[in-house]
Amino acid sequence: MTVDSHIAIAIHGGAGTLLREKMNDSVESAYRQKLEESVLAGFAVLKDGSSSLDAVVASVAVMEDSELFNAGKGSVLNHESQIEMDASIMEGLGLEAGSVAGVKHIKNPIMLARQVLQQSGHVMLIGDGAEEFAAEQGFEHIDNSYFRIARREKQLLRVQSSSTTTALSEDGSSENSSDVFDDKKLGTVGAVAIDQRGNISAATSTGGMTNKRYGRVGDSPIIGAGTYADNRCGGVSATGHGEYFIRAVVAHDICARAMYKGISLQEAADEVVMEELVNMKGEGGVVAIDPQANVVFSFNSEGMYRAAVHKNGELEVEIFKT
Ligand code: ASP
Repeated sequence: MTVDSHIAIAIHGGAGTLLREKMNDSVESAYRQKLEESVLAGFAVLKDGSSSLDAVVASVAVMEDSELFNAGKGSVLNHESQIEMDASIMEGLGLEAGSVAGVKHIKNPIMLARQVLQQSGHVMLIGDGAEEFAAEQGFEHIDNSYFRIARREKQLLRVQSSSTTTALSEDGSSENSSDVFDDKKLGTVGAVAIDQRGNISAATSTGGMTNKRYGRVGDSPIIGAGTYADNRCGGVSATGHGEYFIRAVVAHDICARAMYKGISLQEAADEVVMEELVNMKGEGGVVAIDPQANVVFSFNSEGMYRAAVHKNGELEVEIFKT
C-alpha cells in the first residue's frame, strides 16, 4: 500500500469566456506552463507529508506571483484605478479559517490569510487593520505599483469606455483578440488539496473584478461563498461573478448538499454551478476535492483555467471545455 494514493490537489486560475479560437498558441502555452508549475508546487508539499493547508498556499502563491492571473501581481484595477486584493483559506479538520479583504501592500495575500487563521484569533481582517496585522507579523510592506501591470490599465480603460461595471459584461471592443480574451475572463486563483492524513484545505485569492467600486468585496474572501473546507464533505474554491456566488453561498452549499443529500461532490457542484447559478445568471465555476480524494471541476462558463494531480498521480491541465 502506498500512502501517497490518497493525496490529490486541484487548482483554478479563473473562469470566463475562454474560447479556443480567441487564444493564440503562445498565450495558451504560457497559461498551461504556469498552471502546471502551480499544481506541482502544491503537490510537492503533499508528497513531502506536509499539510494540505501549506499545499494550497504553495499553489496559490505561484499564481499570485504571475502576471497572467488576477491575483497578487497582475490584479485587476478598480474604478479608481487602484488595486485591492482579497484572499481566504480554510482547513477541514478543525474548520479553522482566515481571510483578508481590500489589502493593497501584501505580496501574497493568501499567506496573510493563513496568518489570520493561525495567529489572529479572528477569521477576517480588512483594509488597514489587515495591513497593520501583517506588519506586526513581519510581512513586508510592498508598494502598490508592484501589482500594477500595463495590460490591466488598458483593460480598465476599455471596460470604462464601454460604461459597464464589470469585466464580465464587457463586449470587447478593443485592439486585438488577446485583449478581448482578457476582458472576458475572471482570473481569480484557487486551490484545494487533501493531504496524507486525509485533511482537506481550500484557498482562493483575487484582485476582484475590473472597474469594481472602491471598497467592493467579492466572494473570494467570504468563507462559505468563495472558499470552504470540511473533512466530512470536501473542499471547494470558486471563481466567478462574486455577487452571485455570495448570494448563492456557493462553496458551502456544495459541501452541504453532498453531506445532507448523500450525493457525490461532483453532483452537488453541478447542481449549484449548472442549475442554481445558471438560473441566477451567475457565471463561473469551482474546483473541489472530496474525502476520497476525487477531483471535481464544474463551470458554467466557456472555460476555466484548471489543473490537478489526481490520486492516481495523473497530471491534468485544461483551459477549455473538454
Ligand atoms: N470571484 C471574484 C470576485 O468576484 C472574481 C473572479 O472569480 O475572477 O471578486
